[in-house]
Amino acid sequence: MKNLILVIAAICFAAIVSAQSSTTPAAKPAATPATASAKATPASWYGCPKCDFTSQKEGKCPHCQAALLKDHTYFCTDGTTSDKAGKCKDGKDMAMVDCKAKMMSARAKQKAATPATAPAPAPAPTPTK
Ligand SMILES: [Zn+2]
Repeated sequence: MKNLILVIAAICFAAIVSAQSSTTPAAKPAATPATASAKATPASWYGCPKCDFTSQKEGKCPHCQAALLKDHTYFCTDGTTSDKAGKCKDGKDMAMVDCKAKMMSARAKQKAATPATAPAPAPAPTPTK
């Protein structure tokens, strides 16, 4: 009698396990890396090695006629470029084209160059005692 119960229990257990194992793969969503296609390729920026000019296209700087370098490209004043940081022939560290910094700098310069349209904020009234 005890054996029979054990056998039934074993069969039930096996049935449950097999049922579970057969349903679990189906329950899992098909592995579709949707995020990979949704991720837009970051826009590549090019910057002038001499001034703060930046562009999203390769070409020449309209101000210096210098060839634009891709963002984060290292360069020397003698025209050497590299993807990695290093030293120039003259022993100086290679400078990096940082378009973000160039944009910030250009914006700051623009702000400084254009006269402030808004009147300067009035000095805080000093409480007179
Ligand atoms: Zn330039």
